[in-house]
Amino acid sequence: MKRLRTILLLLSLAIFCVPYPAYANHSGGYSDTVKFEEEYSTEEFAKAESPRRVNGASDWTLGVTSKGQQVRTTGTRPHWGTDFGMSLGQTVYSIMGGGTVYDIASKSQVDIQLGYVTVKYNVKGKIYYISYLHITPDSSLKKGDSITVSDPIGTIHKDPWPTDDKKGYPPHLHMHRVDEKRVKSIKLYNFYIWQAKWNYGNDLDYFTNPSTTGNTFSITGYSCNNCVSSRDKLNNVDIWYQVPGKLGWTKGAMTFTSNNRYTFDFGSIKYKENGVNVSIAKGMNVQFYVVGYRYKPGYKEKNKVIVYRHSLWPQKYEHAPDTPAIFQKEKITIEYRTHTIK
Ligand SMILES: [Zn+2]
Repeated sequence: MKRLRTILLLLSLAIFCVPYPAYANHSGGYSDTVKFEEEYSTEEFAKAESPRRVNGASDWTLGVTSKGQQVRTTGTRPHWGTDFGMSLGQTVYSIMGGGTVYDIASKSQVDIQLGYVTVKYNVKGKIYYISYLHITPDSSLKKGDSITVSDPIGTIHKDPWPTDDKKGYPPHLHMHRVDEKRVKSIKLYNFYIWQAKWNYGNDLDYFTNPSTTGNTFSITGYSCNNCVSSRDKLNNVDIWYQVPGKLGWTKGAMTFTSNNRYTFDFGSIKYKENGVNVSIAKGMNVQFYVVGYRYKPGYKEKNKVIVYRHSLWPQKYEHAPDTPAIFQKEKITIEYRTHTIK
C-alpha cells in the first residue's frame, strides 16, 4: 500500500505542483510539451472573489505564497498555478458564480493530498475552468451541480505524512485555471485586475500586464514568498529578439522603471548591413520573448546552486530553457510574440 501511494504520488507529481525537496539536474531534460497557455490579454474576464471568506466577505488579506508559474527553487517541475496560504480545515469558496461542477477528485487522490474540484464557469457567455487543489471536496458536491459565488467547494487538506517532509506538504490552497482537458495552465491575472489588495492581479502570476505603446513594450514581473508583506524585485529581465532576414537572436536588457515594471524600446534595435549599422525601420517585424531571473547566477540554497531560476513570457513549456542556444540544442521551438515597428 505504501508502495502504491508512492507510485500514485509520483504520478501526481507529473500533474500538479508540489514543493518537493529535491533539486533538479537541468542539463538537458527540457521539454517542448505545451503546459502553459499565455493569455496575451489585459481584459478583465470577471471580478472573481477570494476563495476565503471571513464573515461571508472576501478575505483579501489572504497571501499568495508562491508567485511564479515556472520558476521555483526546488523540485524538477515548474509550478502550475497559484498557491494561497490557507490553513488545515478552512473552507474554500467558489471565486465566481455561474459555475457547474466539472470534475471531482477520487477518494484515492484525496487520500494523498491531491483532492480537487474543477468548476466550469460561464461568464458572459465565455467558459473558464478553475481547479481548486489540496482540498477535501465538499461531500454534497457531484458532477453537474450548479455553483454560486457563495458555495463552499471543500476544505483544506491535511498532510497525510506530517512526519515525513519528503512526501506531503503544508496545508494550502492551490488554484489553477485549466483548459477543458485539464492539460494546460492559464493565468488567473485577468480575474483579479480589479482587486487592489492583490496588486491588481499582478500578485497571482510571474509576468503580467504586457502592453505596447508605440515601439515600447512593457511588462510587470516580480516574485514574492508572501505577497501580502513583500514583493521582491527580480535580479534581471532579459529580452531576446530577432528580425527575420536581418538579425539573429540577440539579447537585450529590459529597463526597470517602477512598480516592478520593465520596458524595452524596439525602435532602438540596430543591425549590420554591408558592414554598416542600420536602425530598424517602420514596418519591420521583431520577434521576441522575455526571461526573468529570480536570482544571480550561482545563487545557492541549502548549499546547492539553483540552476532553474528563470521564467519566460510568453509561457508555454513544461520546463523552459532561457537562451536561444539551449532551445536550438534541445531542438525546441521558441515561442515568441511579434511586434511590427511603427
Ligand atoms: Zn501549488
